[in-house]
This record gives sequence, structure tokens and C-alpha cells, in this order.
Amino acid sequence: MTRVFNFSAGPAALPEPVLKTAAEEMLDWHGSGMSVMEMSHRGKEFIAIHAEAEALLRELLAIPTDYKVLFMQGGAIGENAIVPMNLLRGKASADYIDTGEWSKKSIKEAGKYCKANVAASAKDGGYTSIPPRDSWKLDANAAYVHICSNETIGGVEYHWTPEVGDVPLVADMSSNILSKPVEVSKYGLIYGGAQKNIGPAGLTIVIVREDLIGNALPFCPSAFDYKQQADNDSMLNTPPTYAIYIAGLVFNWIKAQGGLKAMAEHNRAKAALLYDYLDATSFYSSPVARPDRSLMNVPFKLKDEALDEAFLKGAQQRKMLQLKGHRSVGGMRASIYNAMPVEGVKALVAYMKEFEAKHG
Ligand SMILES: *Cc1c(COP(=O)(O)O)cnc(C)c1O
Repeated sequence: MTRVFNFSAGPAALPEPVLKTAAEEMLDWHGSGMSVMEMSHRGKEFIAIHAEAEALLRELLAIPTDYKVLFMQGGAIGENAIVPMNLLRGKASADYIDTGEWSKKSIKEAGKYCKANVAASAKDGGYTSIPPRDSWKLDANAAYVHICSNETIGGVEYHWTPEVGDVPLVADMSSNILSKPVEVSKYGLIYGGAQKNIGPAGLTIVIVREDLIGNALPFCPSAFDYKQQADNDSMLNTPPTYAIYIAGLVFNWIKAQGGLKAMAEHNRAKAALLYDYLDATSFYSSPVARPDRSLMNVPFKLKDEALDEAFLKGAQQRKMLQLKGHRSVGGMRASIYNAMPVEGVKALVAYMKEFEAKHG
């Protein structure tokens, strides 16, 4: 068996020890004689798995007790609709900060339910930086302020938490959740699909302050009503049981690595290997403003895009996969989430140098 270095933006690499545990427990979870996939979500075994996953997530993020943790479905794109359906609370508009492809999608979808006001946009700069906080034109009557904390495609990331006064701050953290500590109390709601930094596709994490829920629009589907899900421990409908189990194993793995502080150090060191090299050469370049560079998704371009194909082919021969940039921006992108070992990034940089020496 050969494992590759998988630089996919998502679904993405998982920690190998997690996959090994899942394999060992596949046919018989803890003497139950069943796979987790085969368990009733209302049986005592799965209820224990679910409760442990939630407890570990609360511990890792130090989630205050007045926040609900929901394990839902529908992905972050589902949340683009579910958030306004739940959080408008009688208000007519919400503020959105436009930092790239994913915020654009959020804005478009929210527009079906309310006035989605673009309070700041990085469009003029080609989405290569985060608009500074003092340029945001916020509306004190907005239902919430929405940000995308890490633009998975453009590779820009907030390395600060915006202060937005009494209006709840909502963040799509799909691609940087659990990559570093987060002050949850500064947010009204955090959401993210699991398939970047947590586990398998199919699970959506929602962390929401209790006082914000209970006012869903009348047409909001029950399965997407935060209050109904919270009152039913995320089991109003059958939750994505296996994905929750794997997420729990990943949470345990993060804890064993030393928690989110250790994760953040690890991620900073990995990203620095790539960015330091990108800054030292003119053969490759990073389009993103330095202070806003993502530690999770590193887009880069070759000086001569005619070499792109040869670059990708050589990478594949060296067992480094999924380096092609998103079709909307071209170039390359290395996604280096928690589960990417530093050896993978070292191997990539070594290959980039080798390729430059040959073609530069
Ligand atoms: C991947 C991603 C999404 C889309 O998530 P789905 O699970 O496909 O709905 C949304 N936002 C961000 C920031 C992402 O990285």
C-alpha cells in the first residue's frame, strides 16, 4: 500500500491514525458486534459516540455553555440559506463582507431571504486581501454580519476577529475551523462543512449562541431549524452518524497533538515553509497580500503557465496529488490542513525547487 501526499482542498486528507482506528473498528465497534454505520442513532452506543464528539469539540474550542453545538447536514452551501432563515429574527437585512468565491456564494443565496448588504468588498483588489475593518460600512440594524474566515479558493484568511458591536458576527469557517484557537464568544454563529479540516463530507458543524435561535422563518424546513435541532440534540432527523464518529476520532487526535494551540504552531510552521520559498524565488509567486495569506490553502502561480501541466505531472510522479488550482483562478493550490504532515510540505518545496532548477 502506498499513501500519497494529498493536497486536496476538500474532501481532504485525514490523519492516518484516525483512518487506522476506523479500519480496526469497522466490523465491531468496542465489542458491540456492529459497525458504527449499522447502529441505530438512538441506541446507547451511538448516543455515547455523539456525546463524546460534542464534548471533545466543546473542549477543543472552549465553547461557552450558552452556545449550542449542532451536527447537521446540507454543508456550508446549505448554511448560506439556513443562516438567514434562522437569524433574520424579524430584520430585513444582513451585512456581508465579500472576500472571494465563497462569500460571493453566501451573498447570492442570502439575497433570496433578505437584503444582503455588501458592507465591504475585496473585489477591486482581485480578492487578494481582507478589507480593513475601518473600511466596512456596517448597518447597526442588520440581523448579523457575515464573514468567510478563510477563502478556500483565493487563499485569504482573517488572522484577526472583527469587532462588530452588538450585531452578531457569523462566520463560515469551513476551511479553517480547528486550525487554531478561536474566541467563540466573539461570534453569534460559526458554521462549517466537515470535509476540509474535520472529517468526511456530509456533516455540517454549527455553533450558535442560544439567544439567537427560536425565530426561524415559518417556511424554514424543520430539519434546518436550529431551535428544533437543538431541542432534539441534533437528532430531529437521522444525523450523519458515521461522519460524526470519524469527526470524534479527529477531535481526539487533535487533543492528543496538544489541542488547537499546538495545531496553530504546526500550521504556521508548515505554511511558512511554502511562503518563505515563494517569496524567495521569482519562478513562482503568491498572489495574496502577506498579512492575509491563508495558512490552510496556499495558491501559487508558475511564472510561465505553459509549464503548469509538466509541474502537475512531475508532482503526481512523486506522489503529490491535487495541486491544481481551482478552475476559477487557475495556477496551483496546496491545501495543507491539520492532517497534512510537515513532511508533505517539505516534499512539495523540495520538488518545487527541483522543478525550478530544471526549468527556471
Ligand atoms: C468547501 C466550502 C464551502 C462549500 O461547502 P459544501 O459542504 O460543499 O456546501 C463553503 N464555504 C467554504 C469556505 C468552503 O471551503
